[in-house]
Parts: sequence; C-alpha cells; structure tokens
Amino acid sequence: MTASILIVDDDSAVRDSIKEFLSIIGYTTYSAESAEAALAFLKNRSVDVIITDIIMDGMDGLEMTRVIKESYDTDIIVITGFTGNYSYEEAIKKGADDFIFKPVRFEELLLRLKRVLRERTLSHDRMQMLEKLQELAITDDLTRLFNSRHFYSQLENEIHRYNRYQRPLSLLMIDVDFFKELNDTCGHQAGDQILNKIAQLIVSCLRTEDTAYRYGGEEFTVILPETTCDAALSVAERINQVVHDEVFAAASYRKLSVSIGVTQFSPGETISEFIRRADRAMYMAKEAGRNRTELLLP
Ligand code: GH3
Ligand code: MG
Ligand code: MG
Repeated sequence: MTASILIVDDDSAVRDSIKEFLSIIGYTTYSAESAEAALAFLKNRSVDVIITDIIMDGMDGLEMTRVIKESYDTDIIVITGFTGNYSYEEAIKKGADDFIFKPVRFEELLLRLKRVLRERTLSHDRMQMLEKLQELAITDDLTRLFNSRHFYSQLENEIHRYNRYQRPLSLLMIDVDFFKELNDTCGHQAGDQILNKIAQLIVSCLRTEDTAYRYGGEEFTVILPETTCDAALSVAERINQVVHDEVFAAASYRKLSVSIGVTQFSPGETISEFIRRADRAMYMAKEAGRNRTELLLP
C-alpha cells in the first residue's frame, strides 16, 4: 500500500505543485487549503504524513500540528521560512516530525518524506512487537485465557474501582474435579486438551465485562465487575451445568465436573482475604460432593 500524504497550504500554486510531484512519484495525495479544512478532512480519513505551510489564514500550521498530534497518529512535516517569525525548533516543539525550508526543493522534500516514512514504519513495527509481548506476558500458553499475573493486577484494579464507586464485585474460584485421576488414566496430553476445552466452556458462560483466568494447574478464576453474589451464583451454576453436559473426547473420561466457590467483595478487605474466601467456598463445594457451587459471604 502506498503512503498517503495530505498537503496543507493556502497558496494554491505551491499546494498543487507539491501534490503533482508526489503523485507522480506514486504517493496517494490529498490537499487542503487551510488548517480548518485539513482538520475536517482528518475526521473522515487518515493519512500517513501531512506536509504543511505555517502561515495561513485562520489557524496557523503550528497550531494545527499541535492539535493533530494530540489525537491522530500522523507524521507532520512543516514548511518554514529561513527568516520567518517561526523557527524550526518551534515547529519541532509543537510536535512536527521534520521541517523543510522555503522555497521548497522537490529533491529535499522527497528525502525528508522518505526519512519520515521509514521511521514511521520502524516505530509501527516496534509498537506491534511491544503489543505482542505485552499480550504474551498476560496470556496463559495452554488455554489462551489470561494468566494469574494478570488476574492479580486486574483484581487490584477492580478493587480500586470498588473503593471509588462502590459497585458490587464478585469472584469465582473454579477447580476441576478428580483431575489427577484423569491425568493418570488418559495421560497428561489428553488432560491438557480437556483443560483447554474447559477454559472455552467457562468463557462461553460469561458476559463481555467478565474476565476468566487460568489461576494455576486445573484452577480457574473469574472476575465479575458490577455483579452481586446472586448474579455471580447463577453464572457459576451455568458453568457447572455446561461443563457437566459436555461430552469430552478423551476415552474413558467422557464426563467431567468442576467445583466452584463464589464470593462478593467486602469493603475494607485486602485482595488476599477476598481470594481466600473464594478459595474456601470452592473447598466447601468439594466437601459437599463436587460438581456444584457454594457461596460464602464475609
Ligand atoms: P479434586 O477433585 O479434589 O480437585 O481432585 P484433583 O485430582 O483435581 O486434585 P489435585 O489438586 O490433587 O490434582 C490436580 C491435578 O491436576 C494434579 C496435576 O497432575 C493436574 N494438573 C495440573 N496442571 C496441569 C496441566 O497443566 N496439565 C495437565 N494435564 N494436568 C495438570
Ligand atoms: Mg486444584
Ligand atoms: Mg482439582
């Protein structure tokens, strides 16, 4: 895909000649006769680079640069005079990525443009890699759910939110029943596949605001923001049902179940008190015969 360039200049001769030159080179070009027109253009369309004059009627090119840099991912090359009222340092301070002196020489403009585009690609690649790494850092390899590190940080966030807005917050602790036996009978690999399937089944029972985590081996947690324990209880019971109804592929273990503990956050308690109570509720479900949900309130 060719890079797209918007040229902003109130002098139509300059605007048209730059546009024509860059179109011939092969760029997709647009032009605007004022800062206001450029801003209106950006509302409907994004461009990679803007080349702009500084002195224009209405908003000037530097103010436009500042405004655009606040909300758009666009690089800006500012055209500045040697003796004008504006220095290139000022242009860079406003967020311009490069500048070019008047009168504009096409070869120089092209060099600057290519440099800006090259850096733009590099910085996008870097950003993508960083996002990928950040995603990996919070994802469980086996199930693709969030991992326990992310669980702790998200639960902290939700507790902060609770302290600000006092909206109900509930937590599920889910443990697969007799999983060791399954591993011993069907093998670890079949066990892995089943954990993966159970993770999907859990997610299928959640609303978009709820998040599921692999807490450890065969244990999962679910954070339910803005949810009372009664509503959380019915989510948990639905998970019990869905897992129990599923026919698993692994030979000789076609039926599985989970035990779930449910609790609601209580004002003033610590994150570990909150988690411990969900854990205790889960053990109550184990003791009560497994394949069930127990609610434990503070
Ligand atoms: P309970 O009903 O009391 O929960 O019984 P359980 O057998 O599930 O409990 P226990 O905690 O004794 O055993 C959990 C087993 O889960 C032990 C371990 O072999 C297995 N496990 C933990 N993580 C993994 C994993 O990533 N893959 C597989 N295949 N098995 C795992
Ligand atoms: Mg366990
Ligand atoms: Mg277990």
